[in-house]
Amino acid sequence: MTGRKVLMDFEVTPTSHTLEAYLARGGYQALAKALRGMKPGEVTQEIVDSGLQGRGGAAFPAGRKWQVIDPHDGQPHYLVANADEGEPGTFKDRWVLEHSPHTLLESMLIASYALGVRHSFIYIRGEFDLPWRRVSAAIEEAYAAGYFGENILGTGFSCDIFVFRGAGAYVCGEASSLLASIEGSRGYPRNRPPRLTVKGLFQRPTVVNNVETLSNLAWIIGHGAAAFRQIGTPKSPGTRLISVSGHIARPGVYEVELGYSWAKFLHDECGGVSCDRELKAVIPGGISSQVLTGRDAKVLTPHDVETMILDHDALWQAGSSLGSGGMIVIAEGTCMVSLLRVMLRFYHHESCGQCTPCREGMGWLHRIVDRILAGKGRPEDIDLMYRISKANDGTTICGLGDAAGYATVAMLDRFRDEFDWCVEHKRSKYDGNLECRPST
Ligand code: SF4
Repeated sequence: MTGRKVLMDFEVTPTSHTLEAYLARGGYQALAKALRGMKPGEVTQEIVDSGLQGRGGAAFPAGRKWQVIDPHDGQPHYLVANADEGEPGTFKDRWVLEHSPHTLLESMLIASYALGVRHSFIYIRGEFDLPWRRVSAAIEEAYAAGYFGENILGTGFSCDIFVFRGAGAYVCGEASSLLASIEGSRGYPRNRPPRLTVKGLFQRPTVVNNVETLSNLAWIIGHGAAAFRQIGTPKSPGTRLISVSGHIARPGVYEVELGYSWAKFLHDECGGVSCDRELKAVIPGGISSQVLTGRDAKVLTPHDVETMILDHDALWQAGSSLGSGGMIVIAEGTCMVSLLRVMLRFYHHESCGQCTPCREGMGWLHRIVDRILAGKGRPEDIDLMYRISKANDGTTICGLGDAAGYATVAMLDRFRDEFDWCVEHKRSKYDGNLECRPST
């Protein structure tokens, strides 16, 4: 067990995603409590008091985002669940969509009530076929049972929901490009201000929240903010869904109480590194979070990583973040130069092309790592990669360029000797290996 549970507190069975099963475990009671016993502002205040932080990457307090919106200002507001989970290594929202879609729907109804939303949206990743089918079936069940539509539970509150399927662009997971995609435009991020909570979908105040963030709401309203604060740490209340992949014995999605020990999580729950290798590094929150290992004095040795706790503050202090919750475990014997090439190929492909440092920089970085691995690297290439990566810092419209630059710099900082070795010897120190091979 990885601590107390908020979202994975039931046994997954072939029917546990249905409305019947959800009602049997107390589903939609939090919605009734909110609609019948709380004013919209009280719901928002409860979320503020809970200390719930966004689970999509930035960990911004969810309630503070909501407080920007006045539900009684006489204009339409929109709520959008961001289900465009495209960060490599991240597949935890998918678990909610497949196994507990009614938790998301109930939570979205509660949020819609608090924010004065009449029309809400789920923007779901195009490749998510089963999750889309499960969510669509759950919406049909919820409409048939009177949880969506007019006069919900006889309270006078009305709300409809629409599902949009994305077309596979990573950048559409960025909130402003996601809204542009719903509006039928090309999925380009846009500069802020104005913030989306001021001018979002169709130029109206809009809250975009991650699936996991939203899915916590039913539990918080049902049990109260004080009960939620009893879970996790004072600065990071609650739990995180963590998808674990890479060189790990038991990959999968886990719910972990914030503050839980990494050592226990990696060894006891995930079974440790999947071959008889030592832990070389961990990318804790999707490939856009900085890799952690022991080469940089400021950062932690692999042993120290294992003595850390899973907590936003602890990760920030270590120079990384819990990010999107996609943990990638890397064993000794892995070629970090080849791993960076995989990452840069992805960023190069997914850059939308609006900003020069991102559009050109990702291509340059990709080509430089390619030539280093081909034995044609030049001694000055590593410094050139630093300069190109840092040129994205604060100069791009969305976080793709920034994050790709930070992730690249972290790889260079922490594995500089491996990159230098590759340039000097004109080949990978580990034969380009990305697999977990038993040591010989
Ligand atoms: Fe597009 Fe990259 Fe600029 Fe983001 S940073 S808007 S992905 S070019």
